[in-house]
Amino acid sequence: METSDVIVIGAGFAGLTAARELSRSGHATILLEAKDRIAGRTHLAERLGRNLELGGTWVHWTQPYVWAEMGRYGIKALPGPEFTKASWIVGGTRHEGTAESLMELLDGPNRLLLADSRRYFPMPWSPLENPGVADIDELTLSEAIDRLDLAEDERQLLRSFWTLNFNGRLDQAAYTQALRWCAVASGDWQLMFEACASFKIDGGTRALAEAMLADSTAELRLNQGVSSIGQDDEGVLVTTESGKQYAARQLIVALPLSVLNDIDIQPALSPGKREAAARGQAGRGAKLWVRVQGRQERFVAFGPETGALNFVQAEYIDHDTTTLVCFGPDAGAVDVEDAAAAQRHLDAIVPGLTVLDVAGHNWVADQHARSTWPMHYTGYLTRYLAELQRPEGRIRLAGSDVANGWGGFIDGAIESGLDAARQAASALGREARPPIAATAVVG
Ligand SMILES: Cc1cc2nc3c(=O)[nH]c(=O)nc-3n(C[C@H](O)[C@H](O)[C@H](O)COP(=O)(O)OP(=O)(O)OC[C@H]3O[C@@H](n4cnc5c(N)ncnc54)[C@H](O)[C@@H]3O)c2cc1C
Repeated sequence: METSDVIVIGAGFAGLTAARELSRSGHATILLEAKDRIAGRTHLAERLGRNLELGGTWVHWTQPYVWAEMGRYGIKALPGPEFTKASWIVGGTRHEGTAESLMELLDGPNRLLLADSRRYFPMPWSPLENPGVADIDELTLSEAIDRLDLAEDERQLLRSFWTLNFNGRLDQAAYTQALRWCAVASGDWQLMFEACASFKIDGGTRALAEAMLADSTAELRLNQGVSSIGQDDEGVLVTTESGKQYAARQLIVALPLSVLNDIDIQPALSPGKREAAARGQAGRGAKLWVRVQGRQERFVAFGPETGALNFVQAEYIDHDTTTLVCFGPDAGAVDVEDAAAAQRHLDAIVPGLTVLDVAGHNWVADQHARSTWPMHYTGYLTRYLAELQRPEGRIRLAGSDVANGWGGFIDGAIESGLDAARQAASALGREARPPIAATAVVG
């Protein structure tokens, strides 16, 4: 058995942050990760002849935590492409125009939908201290959109736009989550959209994750899928699927919410935490990379919200091929290895392209993720967030799923990792026992 002051489970951005902070402040720290790599729901991988982000990608200066980390390690942001052409399908008809004209069409409806974002969230990083949110937290985004006074074409386009943002269906998606997103972008939906889809990390998400790990003295243990956790007055005991055991005084569980109930935790976490984990997140869609023949124009395209793929954008334009990044609301409807299926899905939204090959990762089928970006169901904010943030004994949760600000983003993961580390360090300080060497062998 290995012992340490703190164990952090999960080497995504939340876990990497927490492990770095704790180890740098002199606490013996072990970081346990189920996969054979770090960075969790971000994954820069060599596919289709280049490095592609299979998971989280875009960052922005309105996201203070990730931006600060990039600055700290001298990592720059790379601007994404400027789009010239756009198409959108509403009322069964495909329309074409400029990217600017598409933004104009989305402008009025989004302003209406999000007009109250700063009223409900005047302090966006304190989502639990905001007036009147409880009254609207059971409202679905679907209902919130449908009650607006919009023309049918506007309604359909707005629904597809938010299906993209949620990477999931709108009929259980929380309207408050849409308001929170807009509020953290100062109430400006265009800034919000720019934050979500414009600037990438130079060297990819891997570069930032590796810089954070290199700056940490935590002991990283890969291929250590945790299966059970026990805690008592003395400490915590973590057991992996292969039976290896780790003991510590404090534990940070930096896992996706949707996998939390897969771990046998004794004594059991509160009913509220378990209920939230059982419900999981609404972000259960697909991200698919598709390489097509020919040098295509730089375009974006929206299809109907019910399409297997409802959004496509031409991301990399090469001499005789173009690589598209595509999203759809249901991971089950998109086989990320099936080029023939991708051709059918693409034909439905941008006809006339010839698919050469595809790449992607099914995050919903991935037993260590079971979700894409954590977009909340109705009621999450008022029923679960405070409870998920509340430590139980020596255990505290961290992750983008439980962040205050940009919940759902890399930024939120880092924010939450910092918070959990600060709390764990202070709990260790209160115990005032000498630190345990991470490599000490007991019993
Ligand atoms: C397709 C996709 C696109 C996205 N796009 C963006 C974007 O453009 N911009 C943005 O900011 N965010 C985006 N996100 C969201 C962002 O990637 C996540 O919010 C963030 O990376 C989550 O970090 P985390 O540390 O909270 O969780 P995770 O990254 O999920 O880390 C949790 C870690 O726990 C590990 N784990 C799971 N089970 C166990 C176990 N039993 N034992 C040990 N370890 C375990 C996992 O393998 C993982 O490494 C996207 C996500 C996806 C999937």
